[in-house]
Amino acid sequence: MRILVVEDEEKVAGEIVRALTAAGHAVERARDGDEAWFQGDTEDFDLVVLDLGLPKLDGVEVLKRWRANSRTMPVLILTARDAWSEKVDAIDAGADDYLVKPFRMEELMARVRALLRRLTKHATAVLTIGDVTLDTRASRVIQGGVPVGLSPMEYRLLHYLMHHEGRAVPQTELTEHIYTQYSERESNAIEVTVARLRRKLGPEFIKTRRGFGYYSGVLSESKP
Ligand code: CA
Repeated sequence: MRILVVEDEEKVAGEIVRALTAAGHAVERARDGDEAWFQGDTEDFDLVVLDLGLPKLDGVEVLKRWRANSRTMPVLILTARDAWSEKVDAIDAGADDYLVKPFRMEELMARVRALLRRLTKHATAVLTIGDVTLDTRASRVIQGGVPVGLSPMEYRLLHYLMHHEGRAVPQTELTEHIYTQYSERESNAIEVTVARLRRKLGPEFIKTRRGFGYYSGVLSESKP
């Protein structure tokens, strides 16, 4: 999943970015409110971690502007202890969940997983299609009881398709959600990654919708 981390404190930001990257997400970072507002308004993210105390534009204002502009991605806010009125403002402005600083990274990761699941109504942290199980807590894939070794890109792509089970995902959307701004994007990178996944999981696990994109599971026409 593609996640934006908005945090001006270098140490905290670095820890969050590392933990999310290790969990298989494509992570971007913004350091102040202006930058955050612009990135969240012009790019698609699956989730945002938003600190409220920011230079230039405070987090509540950033969130209000996103929501006013119909940006509906889930937002997890970070607040200082005792800042209860700020927390209330942020929830009223459209925050989906909050964490009070200092927090345990495990708790942040669990809240991120829960918010991502809510997007597609998955009930648990484990995604299963056929004989393939993807555990989002451990970033691990098991097929027929046997662990499958995947590169970070292969994991991200598989996670995105399993998360959106039954929906044909266009190549452009895959590219946007599994690469960061700074990673190298070769024009056929998605095709190459799909081919590798098919070699590892069998040719039928990821299916092609010709001229459109890829999907896993049974294609559901009702999903846009
Ligand atoms: Ca701050």
